[in-house]
Amino acid sequence: MNRWLENSERNLLPLSRGDSFDEALGEWFFTGAVFDYEVEEVRCQLCEQVHLSHHFEIKNSLTGGSLLVGSSCILKFSGIQVRDYSGRVIVDSGERKSRLLEVVKGKIIESRLEPLRKLWAVDESNRSKIQELAESLKSDAGVPPNDLLFLLKQMDSHEIPYPAKNYKVSLKSYKERNQIFVMKAPGLQMIIPALSRSQLMKVYAWRKDLHLK
Ligand SMILES: [Zn+2]
Repeated sequence: MNRWLENSERNLLPLSRGDSFDEALGEWFFTGAVFDYEVEEVRCQLCEQVHLSHHFEIKNSLTGGSLLVGSSCILKFSGIQVRDYSGRVIVDSGERKSRLLEVVKGKIIESRLEPLRKLWAVDESNRSKIQELAESLKSDAGVPPNDLLFLLKQMDSHEIPYPAKNYKVSLKSYKERNQIFVMKAPGLQMIIPALSRSQLMKVYAWRKDLHLK
């Protein structure tokens, strides 16, 4: 038996009623809770593999036991129930995957909006601008570099913690790209965590004064 399956059985069976692994798997369901981590690597409590940036909570309907696992384990072990928003059990493997991605996306969007709500509450003179930018970030459209820098600086000045990597920058227009060209290095360093990998490659090509970390 491969190690991955071996670890999974060893971790799942003690928290389940069923004697066989397949029987035990059928007792588990994804709760809808996802945990996002600042660190790159966390361990799956089922298969014990690392390289996860998100943990998905699964629970046993008979014992109440719970585990924090990677999406790949939920997808691989189809016995673990995944439900849609209306509570319907999803059987199709493609739909199961879409559902997990959708939950993660919702979690990321919520994690970027929550600090902005706090900012909106305290930064009265900038409320309309904060609200407008929050709308763009809620719809998952990015905001121009200068606007993201504005938000991050405001949150810093009000000592509101935020997950910089969960924000999103738009570099579609000439105006937006130009903001990157003229932005001072310390400001640029602040918004870098929010850039996608491909955006980052472009920015480092444009701005030779930045040093790769
Ligand atoms: Zn796993």
